[in-house]
Amino acid sequence: MKEMRNREPRSEWTQRRLRSPTLLDRIFILRCSFSDLGSQFLIVRIFSSFILSRSSFSSPDMMFAMALEDCLLCRKIASPPANEVVWEFPHSIAFLGPWQHYRGYCVVVCRTHAAEMHHLPEAIRQAFFEEMCVVSRAIETAFCPRKINVESLGNQVQHPHWHLFPRSADDPENLKAVWLALDRAEKDEDETRRLQASQLPREEIIARLRAALPRPS
Ligand SMILES: [Zn+2]
Repeated sequence: MKEMRNREPRSEWTQRRLRSPTLLDRIFILRCSFSDLGSQFLIVRIFSSFILSRSSFSSPDMMFAMALEDCLLCRKIASPPANEVVWEFPHSIAFLGPWQHYRGYCVVVCRTHAAEMHHLPEAIRQAFFEEMCVVSRAIETAFCPRKINVESLGNQVQHPHWHLFPRSADDPENLKAVWLALDRAEKDEDETRRLQASQLPREEIIARLRAALPRPS
């Protein structure tokens, strides 16, 4: 009681805030009770997620800004490398992938961020799927593969994207998943060079794929 008496009297505003603290007040109080920066950062992130999930801040723009900060494919979509772009669709961008031993290999990346394909709004998911099929058909027309492996994994980057690997009939491993070869390449530079090499320049591959895309009616 003695200590209280020695303090400056609290203003009416301060007393009101102490009686009914706002959410920001609570964050500040919690932040002060944790001394290390890691704990403070964690608390701010938890409260930010809570606020975003319950407020008008959970707009697509705000969610996009958060994803852009964290997600490699969101950053790529925001600033697509011109020498990789095969085609820009309304809901996705098709990029020519690095492993051109599988001639025509493309990665089709959704413009919308989500951790899982089923998290996408239905209309966007369907349009994204159709755009992937357009690219798959263009690969078939341009390069006549024996089969096209269509894969969506997302173990490394959790953002909706399709890998389209054309498999040729003369590939001795054409019954095996491409990832076995890519795993070898990760440990062997010669294998990396072999799988990235192509009989055609990349610009030529992109030109052939673009020529095989359906013309706008
Ligand atoms: Zn993303």
